[in-house]
Amino acid sequence: MFQEESFFHPAAFPGMVMDRVRVAGAGLAGLFAALRLAEGGRSVEIVDVKNRIAPSSGPHSEALRDYVGTEALAELRRYGFDLEPFGTIETTVRKSARYENVLRGRAYHLFLRGRDPNTVDQELYRRCLEAGVKFTFGSRWNPGEPIDIAAAGPPSGEFNILGAGFTFSSDGSNLEKHTAFALLDNDVAPGGYLVVTPGIEYHSIYSVSWGELDYDRLLRMTEAGAARPWVREILGSSRRLGRIYGRAFYAPDPIARAEINGVRYIGEAGGFQDAIAGFGFRYAILTGSLAAKSILEGISYHDLLQATFREEFAIASGIREKLNRFTNEDLDRLVESMGPSMSVDQYRHHRAARFL
Ligand SMILES: Cc1cc2nc3c(=O)[nH]c(=O)nc-3n(C[C@H](O)[C@H](O)[C@H](O)COP(=O)(O)OP(=O)(O)OC[C@H]3O[C@@H](n4cnc5c(N)ncnc54)[C@H](O)[C@@H]3O)c2cc1C
Repeated sequence: MFQEESFFHPAAFPGMVMDRVRVAGAGLAGLFAALRLAEGGRSVEIVDVKNRIAPSSGPHSEALRDYVGTEALAELRRYGFDLEPFGTIETTVRKSARYENVLRGRAYHLFLRGRDPNTVDQELYRRCLEAGVKFTFGSRWNPGEPIDIAAAGPPSGEFNILGAGFTFSSDGSNLEKHTAFALLDNDVAPGGYLVVTPGIEYHSIYSVSWGELDYDRLLRMTEAGAARPWVREILGSSRRLGRIYGRAFYAPDPIARAEINGVRYIGEAGGFQDAIAGFGFRYAILTGSLAAKSILEGISYHDLLQATFREEFAIASGIREKLNRFTNEDLDRLVESMGPSMSVDQYRHHRAARFL
């Protein structure tokens, strides 16, 4: 890949305006960085090891978290992301083994990921093509090869979060379109949670785990979760559709490793992921936007990251260490402390907001 240019790397010539910007990885982060660069007038080439645009995790609904501090969608808008979510979550049911809390109010915006035309992936791809981005599929970038932006997802062998589950038809299911469920129970998602999120034609159920990183074992746990009566009620007579499989990677201090030999690492390639809950959508967009800005304006990517995120990763890593030690009794106490019901406004001031 890029062999014809392997003798030259623009990072070796500080201050020089790079000609074509090269991006490795056409996931959320790479696509968004490429789009921002092309819209900023740069010529962009993006390579992906796959033969088409498709998230590694398979089609699923993805939630943009909206209740801890910032209004998440408004924040993404400030970074140039203007795609519309297909829905919102207004009721979030949090369960532990013995307790339940219902969070009332807008907590998440929903986006579809996958190969369908209405997914974020395909919409960004379409816009990139319109803006003139050149795609090369079926081409692998190897670390060390000249590149400007590395967006190839979790470095091989370095994932530390795993998702396992399946999509099911909305036909026959009893999931209400503005309601999501999360179960905090180490028996079904060690160190994480089992989640049920609505889509349009299909919904998603999967366990996200920090403690069980073997896919088959985690899937068996998800299946055990899906056999619980309240989940069976949600599934109703729906049909099981696709597989959800995903590896994710968070680094305790991703800013420290974000720029190496002139290569800017974005999204999960740089470990930009939410250590607490695995919400990486925001980080993929923000780091993609910041890397593009640093190239377009000739300013330091590292400084932009520092100014944007400050202590956020250190705080999240500390909380993650605590969560890794939580027993089911601790999770029970956490959910019990929220009471049976609470508004999003009340939740912002509750200690559980740091954990869930
Ligand atoms: C099951 C699941 C559910 C999720 N749910 C949510 C959610 O609800 N909310 C949320 O905020 N986040 C969620 N996330 C996290 C979020 O999807 C990710 O953080 C985000 O998509 C990461 O984007 P990325 O571009 O960094 O990496 P990826 O999406 O992994 O993209 C990397 C791209 O690089 C390509 N590639 C890999 N290696 C190479 C190579 N050597 N050369 C060239 N190309 C390469 C891949 O084919 C891929 O296209 C979820 C993740 C999973 C797996």
